[in-house]
Amino acid sequence: MVLALAACANGGNGSSGSGNSDKGTIGIAMPTKSSERWVNDGNNMVKEFKALGYGTDLQYGEDVIENQVSQIENMITKGVKVLVIAAIDGGALTDVLQKAHDQGIQVVAYDRLIMNSEYVDYYATFDNFKVGVQQASYIEEKLGLKDGKGPFNIELFGGSPDDNNAYFFYDGAMSVLQPYIDSGKLVVRSGQTKMEQIATLRWDGATAQARMDNLLSAHYSTENMDAVLSPYDGISIGILSSLKGVGYGSGSKSMPIVTGQDAELASAKSILAGEQTQTVFKDTRELAKKAVSMVQSILEGTEAEVNDTKTYDNGVKVVPSYLLEPVSVDKDNLEQALVDTGYYSKEDLGL
Ligand code: BGC
Repeated sequence: MVLALAACANGGNGSSGSGNSDKGTIGIAMPTKSSERWVNDGNNMVKEFKALGYGTDLQYGEDVIENQVSQIENMITKGVKVLVIAAIDGGALTDVLQKAHDQGIQVVAYDRLIMNSEYVDYYATFDNFKVGVQQASYIEEKLGLKDGKGPFNIELFGGSPDDNNAYFFYDGAMSVLQPYIDSGKLVVRSGQTKMEQIATLRWDGATAQARMDNLLSAHYSTENMDAVLSPYDGISIGILSSLKGVGYGSGSKSMPIVTGQDAELASAKSILAGEQTQTVFKDTRELAKKAVSMVQSILEGTEAEVNDTKTYDNGVKVVPSYLLEPVSVDKDNLEQALVDTGYYSKEDLGL
């Protein structure tokens, strides 16, 4: 009760607490509520920790780096047992993790790797390279590139340059697309193929929409767009608005293939409506379970289960990681992947 009141008094900045803290409180710092996946991630962890008898202090930084840093500082001051952090800017937490270490608080990086700190104990995430491979392989298959079809026009969008994951998605996608770009079967009319040219700060859909508007007017007044590599559903929705604005998806101008990630509700519905083409489903329930079991191991003084000890170098150390499997989803397997697994109900999707 006391904790719940403290959380209320602290309200207005996305905080929430759970009073069931017999075994102590776990600090959970999430990036933003503007994307529903992080809301689900937070809620799932609160539920899992509660079932184990831990209280939680769940905070959302709303994509402002300083918010997240001070939220974590507050958690340290309040004496949380362990921190679970999905960073806004993976490179901005070095000092605050030093403080956590000084107080003997261990840290699990959640979904996004925390860079430049020795004090990241574990990393729970998905196979991020594979996410990019799945997005690009979908484009490859749907355009018939393996059968020698082409040339096709494509534009590329990247994630936030301060998120280590964005480079893994990009590298995974380019491992499939680059050979077709080199052979001329895929044409990027803007010429923008490097990560620094295509990145989207803070994964912002409006930023992506504005870039797409520019690309369409500068390079596609006489040419059709055939595919768009989009790394995240919120970006895909922005891209789709831009495409619709110049007539794609109506009359004879069919929508290009547009990929995505997270299976957010708006995008799942968009896929069913024949607008967005694909997304990558990453089951946040499984990720939450994984992070919670890592925290449990830390508190019990045992080693957490990991399945990757080579990939995720944060600049100071290779962080022991557990990578979950992403699933490519389009209209053909959407019900099976999202409804049969209980992630959404038919009603959620308007089915
Ligand atoms: C996550 C993605 C998400 C993106 C934007 C990435 O770090 O791995 O699942 O789409 O952030 O929130």
